[in-house]
Amino acid sequence: EFFSEKLRVEEALTFDDVLLRPKESHVEPDEADTTTQVSRNVSLNVPVLTAAMDTVTESDMAIAMARQGGLGVLHRNMDVDEMAAEIERIKRADELIIRDVVTAEPDQTVRDVDEMMERAGVSGAPVVDEDDEVLGIISGTDIRPYLEVGDRDEVREAMTDEVITAPEDVTPREALELMYDHKIERVPIVDEENRLVGLVTMQGILQRREYDTAARDESGALRAGVAVGPFETDRAEAADEAGADVLFIDCAHAHNRNVVESAREIKELVDADVVVGNIGTREAAEDLVDFADGLKVGIGPGSICTTRVVSGAGMPQITAVSQVADVAHQHDIPVIADGGISYSGDAIKAIAAGADAVMLGSYFAGTDEAPGRVITMNGKKYKQYRGMGSVGAMKSGGGDRYLKDADEDEEVIPEGVEAATPYKGTVESELHQLVGGMKSGMGYVGAETIPEVKERAEFVRVSSAGQQESHPHDVVITDEAPNYSPGE
Ligand code: 5GP
Repeated sequence: EFFSEKLRVEEALTFDDVLLRPKESHVEPDEADTTTQVSRNVSLNVPVLTAAMDTVTESDMAIAMARQGGLGVLHRNMDVDEMAAEIERIKRADELIIRDVVTAEPDQTVRDVDEMMERAGVSGAPVVDEDDEVLGIISGTDIRPYLEVGDRDEVREAMTDEVITAPEDVTPREALELMYDHKIERVPIVDEENRLVGLVTMQGILQRREYDTAARDESGALRAGVAVGPFETDRAEAADEAGADVLFIDCAHAHNRNVVESAREIKELVDADVVVGNIGTREAAEDLVDFADGLKVGIGPGSICTTRVVSGAGMPQITAVSQVADVAHQHDIPVIADGGISYSGDAIKAIAAGADAVMLGSYFAGTDEAPGRVITMNGKKYKQYRGMGSVGAMKSGGGDRYLKDADEDEEVIPEGVEAATPYKGTVESELHQLVGGMKSGMGYVGAETIPEVKERAEFVRVSSAGQQESHPHDVVITDEAPNYSPGE
């Protein structure tokens, strides 16, 4: 009798099993506000994260995502020093002060400096002596008259020697004011002894302004997320020191005693927020809420993932998200739905089921900013995409995500495959489609904000006939839509 009892099972649903019930709405999709919380202390204007996978997120992806308001999570198939350098790249990407400044010497010839600036692609250079003290500044405007008549003259003749400089703690506003007041385009940054430490340019400030919804820390630098193995205390501390904002304890089954204890210890050691995952049940959430700054959900929904077929275990994603969110909501802890999202509709369904943000791998793996090159097969362009539990990825270091030791000689048991995904162009346009679709969903359920989606949205159950009706049917698609490819 006991065994047959076991088969009186709860029903667990995933994206295609449900649709959002249309509701009376006063919300225009364009006006929907997608601000969200990704962890206790970090909010985002766009509720989207890129997966910590070696074919998805390195610094290029993380920079592009943060500029657009989301967050990239660096993968951990790289050594700790490389990781620190990657975090630094992200943090410096939109830095106000350029540190790597092209400089001129006072006794160089004007022609020489002109050529040097041309090579470096800059239109002006501070002039410094051997001790880096700023003597003047030279620009194309200063050089032009000399090129005709005296290009062998020394820079000290041609340069402007009344230089407007600023200290290192200058704000973008103050720098701009200096530029407007003095009709200049660049301000050398100096220390107390008037030695050059960097340069602020008008172009740099204006470029930063373009990304007005970017995810930034208190100092204005882009936000950085980093994956850390469940037992990688050293990596966690190094990431924290390098300035990571959120650490993601990255484990395929985080509801494991040792993983929970280790994550708790890591949380004690670092200033950064600590998100723990992946989990897929209420009980797992209960064991983590007393210390985690966020919970990540997904046991086997990933597009390249074979966990469910290999191990027989898993939890359909909509149900998993809702169970974790039931617990997390009571403790005010954000939930991230990770994996299985193929369309923007799936992403907003995940939020309706209780998530605060979504994480995607395959959706972004085909973009320019993902690592790896474009390959052509049968005349179509692709990029590589592989599971972090695939043989190839585990051999490059990530086996402990699956609580497996891939260094041993015996054959590993993979939980993912290596694949190719269609090439898609820039992250910016892919993200635009994704977020635009999510906002349409917000319009249909009458929710103006992400918390309102979580509160207001209701689901209906879809039959397999209903699911067929959801996709284009009875037609031959003649033109690809930017947000829909059949059979994806
Ligand atoms: P996707 O967006 O492609 O459907 O899923 C991406 C997510 O799949 C990742 O964020 C990660 O949680 C998960 N994942 C990545 N590699 C593997 C793997 O090899 N096996 C499993 N089980 N999950 C993976």
